[in-house]
Amino acid sequence: MPAPIINRRDIEFFLYEMFDVESLTSRERYKDHDKETFNAAIDIGQAVAEKYFLPIRQKVDANEPIFDGEKVQMIPEIKVALDAVVNAGLTCPTSDYGMGGMQLPLVAASGAFAYLSAVASTTLGYISLTHANCNLIESHGTPEQIEKWVRPMREGRFAGTMAMTEPGAGSGLADLTTTAIKNEDGDYRLTGNKIYISGGDHDLNENIIHLVLARIKGAPKGIKGISLFIVPKFLINNDSSIGQRNEVALAGLFHKMGGRGHTSAALSFGEQNGAVAYLVGEEHKGLMYMFHMMNEARILVGTGAALTALTGFQYSLDYAKERPQGRLLSCKDPESPPVNIIEHPDVRRMLLTQKAYSEGAYALCLYGHQLADDEKTAPTEIERSHASTILDFLTPVIKSWPSEWGPKSNDLAIQVLGGHGYCNEHPVELFYRDNRLNPIHEGTTGIQSLDLLCRKVPMKSFTGYNTFLNEISKTIIEVKQVPSLSSYASELKSAIENLKVVTTTVIAQSQVQHIDLVYSNSVSYLNMFGHITIAWLWLKQAAIAQKAIENKPHSHDEKFYNGKIQAMKYFFNSELPLTYHWGNLVKNIDSASYDTQADWL
Ligand SMILES: Cc1cc2nc3c(=O)[nH]c(=O)nc-3n(C[C@H](O)[C@H](O)[C@H](O)COP(=O)(O)OP(=O)(O)OC[C@H]3O[C@@H](n4cnc5c(N)ncnc54)[C@H](O)[C@@H]3O)c2cc1C
Repeated sequence: MPAPIINRRDIEFFLYEMFDVESLTSRERYKDHDKETFNAAIDIGQAVAEKYFLPIRQKVDANEPIFDGEKVQMIPEIKVALDAVVNAGLTCPTSDYGMGGMQLPLVAASGAFAYLSAVASTTLGYISLTHANCNLIESHGTPEQIEKWVRPMREGRFAGTMAMTEPGAGSGLADLTTTAIKNEDGDYRLTGNKIYISGGDHDLNENIIHLVLARIKGAPKGIKGISLFIVPKFLINNDSSIGQRNEVALAGLFHKMGGRGHTSAALSFGEQNGAVAYLVGEEHKGLMYMFHMMNEARILVGTGAALTALTGFQYSLDYAKERPQGRLLSCKDPESPPVNIIEHPDVRRMLLTQKAYSEGAYALCLYGHQLADDEKTAPTEIERSHASTILDFLTPVIKSWPSEWGPKSNDLAIQVLGGHGYCNEHPVELFYRDNRLNPIHEGTTGIQSLDLLCRKVPMKSFTGYNTFLNEISKTIIEVKQVPSLSSYASELKSAIENLKVVTTTVIAQSQVQHIDLVYSNSVSYLNMFGHITIAWLWLKQAAIAQKAIENKPHSHDEKFYNGKIQAMKYFFNSELPLTYHWGNLVKNIDSASYDTQADWL
């Protein structure tokens, strides 16, 4: 029997015990739902993942898409599998009924997508990027644009992309040079080159709708001069049929170490007369609109990273339970049978670490989804604004903690399998290669750390920062009352106090010292903040588990709950102390990186 993709019990724990998704059914938007419909959505996602994606997982990796000079070629099973997602109604589970959606809360939809993302995070990119593209146009486009572009994307006929990166503008989008000129018909003609565009070209759909960042001729330099355009691969005729090809040419595909389920294209816009482009919203506000999509994509990146880590954990756990090798140190009898490797404490260390990282990361992403749900549908304006404040503040952490620690978890999965993990007979090396993209795209870890420390922390007089830390304090107060967990609550309180000292010091120093030096340890700050956030989420999980054990001693779930408490203890004992080391680097303005001169390296 193949290893389970992920642990269903864990998904249900998160949805029903930790994030209480059932309580959302009291809101008007979700009133048709209940636990049964949520479980049915997870069942569908699981069934499609197991039937269509699991059997082709390694084939997709071994057969990267190729450009034959005319078209993109890929194995046909990819379209069959993606069509199965469309036919199962999972293209836009959170959208309005009127747009063909199921009006599922985001947390529940994440549960429905969990198996799919875990087994095929990159192939699913065709669908998730399309969904995020639709959400942006729905928020900032005209009713005509929604009807013309979003509806066919929601129906699964068209696909969508986000096209920002250029050869000379990756992390620094302010330098992008793609240019748009207003035409007599009121639309624009666009010229320029974009690279790394996920899903940038393929024949899986009738049309591809690119959301392209460009600078209108004469616009100011920097990010304030950037506008956003809809640029379709094919133009649409007045009767809504597919028209002539727009000037969007595939210049080539990138060959990647992983992520081979998804094309990464170099696109050339407007090689002759300019590609026909339709402005979204107002001129020069493009980056602000694109942040709508990027913020959503950042949470999706975190979620994909967490689920790729979870599936690696499951695989290596399954393997460790069945691989006999060696004997315990205490056993001196060479005639005795070897033990399964899970009996070795060091193998259990690697499994427990993976559990702590992957389940902690997934809890963080679901928290992000819950905030996004509350931001839109919480009953009062105060609650909506509270959720929005925390989500905006925490997005760099939700993107980057799973992306940094997820691959570390996958690295340990390889180690658990030993030499077998290094070879492609098992998929754990593939999980690592797939996950290694996540600290890079949608803003690298370095960029996220600067966003957190320089922008999000001091923003609006520390409002997001303080609001979020207050949430942690509430948990600390509650868990202090649980005798077996009280000491862990105190440890988290101390870690928060240290974080506050570090934050106050570094922000104060930024007023008096060179900011390039003061913020040179921003990744250490991000690590510190992320680890404290994950410790909080583990404390919450442990408190739920402890209560469940006390309410129902000796139930069949007791082992599951013990696992939660054990992973929390591991995280507090082995990982939380690292925050003091990172904090010291930041607080003491350690200058090792700043002082290093380029020609010393
Ligand atoms: C597989 C894949 C899929 C992608 N999909 C898309 C997509 O669909 N659409 C799209 O538009 N783009 C996409 N990208 C592009 C991706 O977002 C960029 O690769 C990423 O933003 C980094 O830009 P870069 O590659 O130019 O690296 P650079 O910006 O050159 O960065 C290189 C290094 O320098 C660091 N660095 C750069 N600037 C700073 C700074 N100011 N301060 C501190 N450190 C800095 C970075 O952190 C990084 O470590 C994709 C990339 C890949 C690899």
